[in-house]
Amino acid sequence: MPELPEVQAVAERLRAAAPWARITGFGQFRPSTMNGGVHAPGRRIESIDRRGKNLILRLSGGWFARVHLKMTGDLRVLPDARLRPQTVRAWFSLDDGRAVVLDDPRALGRISLHPEHEEPELFQDLGPEPFSPEFTPAALYASSRRTARPAKIWLMDQSTVAGLGNIYAAEALFEAGIDPRRPAARLSRRRVERLHAAILRVLETALASVRAAYERPGAFSEGEFYPVAVYGREGQPCRRCGAAVRRIPQGGRSTYYCPKCQK
Ligand SMILES: [Zn+2]
Repeated sequence: MPELPEVQAVAERLRAAAPWARITGFGQFRPSTMNGGVHAPGRRIESIDRRGKNLILRLSGGWFARVHLKMTGDLRVLPDARLRPQTVRAWFSLDDGRAVVLDDPRALGRISLHPEHEEPELFQDLGPEPFSPEFTPAALYASSRRTARPAKIWLMDQSTVAGLGNIYAAEALFEAGIDPRRPAARLSRRRVERLHAAILRVLETALASVRAAYERPGAFSEGEFYPVAVYGREGQPCRRCGAAVRRIPQGGRSTYYCPKCQK
């Protein structure tokens, strides 16, 4: 699933397609893909934002489109609306002939349109953005005191920090030397501070590698360009100590970690 770095890279790629023309129409293959598309025609796309793993297309007249890419989605601009590949699930056509399309092989991505006053409520469960001033070591520590869950599950909760998913949560825990099964509430202040720094470091590294990979649309495979230490490396030697990386089920997903480096 695209996490913060991938969604950020998509947002940056879309911004490069500005200035935008006016939306003239919309379409979708399944009614469940887009909600409220009828509010789009006649509006201009004014800017592109990201909140957590969500893309926000700000539209003229006080509306916005929220786009969640889910597992395999990509949002991109086609030079000609008529040349849509089969994997395009929903689209906005523009009056300059271009189209903004949700290209999504697994068709799990979702678009919904909202008046801007709905924004706070829509994102009320999202925690601080990792690169915002609100995301401090103290805030992360305070959050860890309020949960009874293992560190990895706590870290993937979007209310802890927005935008972290399975890959970069595992990598941050490795960087910080924390066992993903350890209850978050029992981590010392010092270890949470180390984790805070590891989250930023991992996301910065991922952003740099993903930006390079996403310059071309369609190159959408998170983690593929990131120098992973543990994610997806079950049975392979830890890059730090040589012990075999382990995979365990956690919260319905696979967690990868080094049993020697992470305590
Ligand atoms: Zn190790």
